[in-house]
Amino acid sequence: MLFTHFGISGPMVLSASCNMRDFSLGYTAHIDFKPALTFEQLDLRVRRDFKENINKSASNSLGKLLPKKLIPVIIERWGIDADKKCNSLTKDERKALVSLLKDFTVKITSARPINEAIITSGGVKVSEINPKTMESKLVHGLYFCGEVIDVDAYTGGFNLVIAWATGRLAGENSI
Ligand SMILES: Cc1cc2nc3c(=O)[nH]c(=O)nc-3n(C[C@H](O)[C@H](O)[C@H](O)COP(=O)(O)OP(=O)(O)OC[C@H]3O[C@@H](n4cnc5c(N)ncnc54)[C@H](O)[C@@H]3O)c2cc1C
Repeated sequence: MLFTHFGISGPMVLSASCNMRDFSLGYTAHIDFKPALTFEQLDLRVRRDFKENINKSASNSLGKLLPKKLIPVIIERWGIDADKKCNSLTKDERKALVSLLKDFTVKITSARPINEAIITSGGVKVSEINPKTMESKLVHGLYFCGEVIDVDAYTGGFNLVIAWATGRLAGENSI
């Protein structure tokens, strides 16, 4: 998963996006920044970092835990004063930070435009195609293959396989 200038992307997001068919439903991505640690383990880790940086500001104590560009974003979501010293952070504030790191939410408002799509599910219904020949059931002599068909798969080579397999079948049957 990647953070980009427009939101989130990367193979995981692309795969998840194929299950998002109606953006009016209001989708939310839940991101765990420290999946290898349980809440309690991460809490211990944060406590240790705060102890080591006891006289530093909260924003200057997160350098070992997070990438530099993410720190101001986390501080803003955390809702504390960035200059607040580690020694004056309360237990509840620390726990709120741990919760945020374990469940950072991003509201998904839309997909990228179609001209940036990786796979489009082009619109020709599978039920209107003869799967043995790829010929249209509606128009004799018309064959479909690849993305123009209403199918898509998780990223990772499956869409290319769809294009190649249906392309070969359509090609062999149309001559
Ligand atoms: C950035 C990106 C990354 C991707 N990564 C993966 C991946 O990792 N794994 C995976 O499985 N899939 C991946 N895909 C999806 C995969 O590439 C497509 O699903 C697949 O190429 C579709 O094949 P196709 O032959 O149906 O269409 P296309 O490959 O789009 O071929 C259609 C061809 O038709 C031509 N054309 C268009 N209009 C006309 C016209 N009027 N006259 C003549 N020619 C025309 C186009 O120029 C194009 O060459 C990726 C797609 C993109 C955009």
